[in-house]
Amino acid sequence: MTSLVYYGSPRQARLVAAETLPAKLDLILDRLHLRERVKDEVVALKVHTGCNISYSVIHPVFIRKVVQAIKDGGGKPFLVDLDWVVNGAESRGYTPEVIGCPIYPAAGPNERHFYAHERQFKNLDTWKVCGMIEEASFLVNFAHAKGHPSCSYGGAFKNLALGCMVGETRSKMHDVSHFDRYWFAERCPDAEARQKIIAACPHGAIIQDKYKPDELHLHMENCNQCGRCLEVAPKGSLKIDPVNWDSFQQAMAISTQISLSTFAPGKATHLVLATHMTPVCDCFGFTSMPILPDAGIFGSDDIVALDQAVLDVTAKTPLIEENVPMSMEVHTRKGHPLQWLHGPYKDPYKVVEYGAQLGLGSQEYELLDVLPVENLRPAPMGYISAQGN
Ligand code: SF4
Repeated sequence: MTSLVYYGSPRQARLVAAETLPAKLDLILDRLHLRERVKDEVVALKVHTGCNISYSVIHPVFIRKVVQAIKDGGGKPFLVDLDWVVNGAESRGYTPEVIGCPIYPAAGPNERHFYAHERQFKNLDTWKVCGMIEEASFLVNFAHAKGHPSCSYGGAFKNLALGCMVGETRSKMHDVSHFDRYWFAERCPDAEARQKIIAACPHGAIIQDKYKPDELHLHMENCNQCGRCLEVAPKGSLKIDPVNWDSFQQAMAISTQISLSTFAPGKATHLVLATHMTPVCDCFGFTSMPILPDAGIFGSDDIVALDQAVLDVTAKTPLIEENVPMSMEVHTRKGHPLQWLHGPYKDPYKVVEYGAQLGLGSQEYELLDVLPVENLRPAPMGYISAQGN
């Protein structure tokens, strides 16, 4: 099955508002028939509202357009995000007055409002979906594309996978990376050898257990799989293995499936804004320089096709290496540029592969540019209207 992904390129031929990304968002919402689909629906608009002083999150101009489209269609929108980021969202420009609808913490102010779903996966058996998500009748998943230290890419899947679950579940989802053993203490009884392993890592990714000195822990987020630790580790004592990162991606796909299962068929749609893509997630509380060129705006009812398309488009551009923070290193230039940044085992395509296996959509898609720049005639700059349209 081939799914449709609507796309607005960041390119424009003329200096007019109609050729810019917010205007292209309107065209995408038209193609998704959002207005016609939301009459009398209670619509949860899931957005990552950032944290602290991050400013690369989705600008309120885009959010307001989605909110207005939902209202025009007779729906009742509210913006929803996790309690600890919603508190303070006004400092990043998200207020009900600006975006045009209420803003709620997804599981209530103390994360006590949730619905438990049973599903066994490694260390997880209960997944707690935020109440405001599960009680909505329609979902608009609006994600900002960026890098991510656990999986290299945060997009449409990530926005739901972590953003629709309470903190207890999010924490267990991160712990799945430690479920498959990677440290075999019995093969390294020598304390000096353990210190050598720790010292070999330039990223502080291996640490000693506070209470059991012969146990070493891997910080999956910090590790870029450079392999320096393996060169000094006694044979068989340490594994740097894709399974530990893949399991997090699998958990994200399962989490997304559980959240989406609370909506009737056809009652969810997905958008990704791929601009100012930073090395790490919006929850870090700051905005770094972009590490990929702006790729545009994407929309689809198929979350698998959508993230696949964003990854394919961004894969065609090189990493902006001069913008990579000095604490990170590029030790490989194989695979997607986000793997150059976060390491080869953090394969951003894994989550879409797992999502497709779970029946959430298709990796085959057709990318439909809603305003192809080839169809536009360049014009001299001329007079720039203050109204701009
Ligand atoms: S692979 Fe590299 S980054 Fe990862 S723990 Fe080993 S030395 Fe550190």
